[in-house]
Amino acid sequence: MKIGVLALQGAVAEHIRSIELAGGVGISVKKVEQLNEIDGLIIPGGESTTIGKLMRKYNFIDAIRQFSAAGKPIFGTCAGLIVLADRIAGGEEAHLGLMNMTVSRNAFGRQRESFETDLQMVGIEETVRAVFIRAPLIQSIGDEVTVLSTYQDEIVTARQGHLLACSFHPELTDDYRLHQYFVQMVESSL
Ligand code: GLN
Repeated sequence: MKIGVLALQGAVAEHIRSIELAGGVGISVKKVEQLNEIDGLIIPGGESTTIGKLMRKYNFIDAIRQFSAAGKPIFGTCAGLIVLADRIAGGEEAHLGLMNMTVSRNAFGRQRESFETDLQMVGIEETVRAVFIRAPLIQSIGDEVTVLSTYQDEIVTARQGHLLACSFHPELTDDYRLHQYFVQMVESSL
C-alpha cells in the first residue's frame, strides 16, 4: 500500500518516516501523474497560501479533487487541513474545498505560537502527542463531519468519510498512531 506526501512545501521526509513506521510505503509526490501510483495522500503543514499557489501552478487542484472523488483517502495536517477546508474564516478563497468545515488560521494567538500537548482521540486508545505550530482550528463543521479530538474545547482533528484533518503536526514526534489510523483508512478503501 502506497501513501504519497504532497511535496510542494513542508515536512515531507518526516511524514514518509511516520508512514513507514505505521506499515505503509511513503512516496514523495511532486507531479500530478504520481497520483495514479498511490492509494492515499497526505498534505503536510507549511504555509497554506503558498501551498495553495503551488497546487494551482502545478495543476494539483483538479487532480486531487478527482483523486478524492474516486474515494481515495486524503489526510491534511496543519496547513494541509486549511487546504482541505470548504471555508477559511476571514473570507480568503478556499483551496481544495473538500471538507465541509470552516477553519481559522493561526488561531491559537501569538503567545501560543508553538506548543505540545497530549490529546484524547476517538478511535485511538491512549492519548496522542501533538505539536502545534501557528496552528489553525476548526470553527464549525457540517453534519457529515465527525470530531475526533478537541483541545480546550476547540476542534483540532476531524474526519469526513475518507478525509482526515488535524491542526497539529503528527509527523514531528515518534508517535505514529495517527498515521497508523490513516493507513487503516487507506487499507479499508482498497
Ligand atoms: N500558519 C500556517 C497557515 O496558516 C499553518 C502552520 C503550519 O502548517 N504549521 O497556513
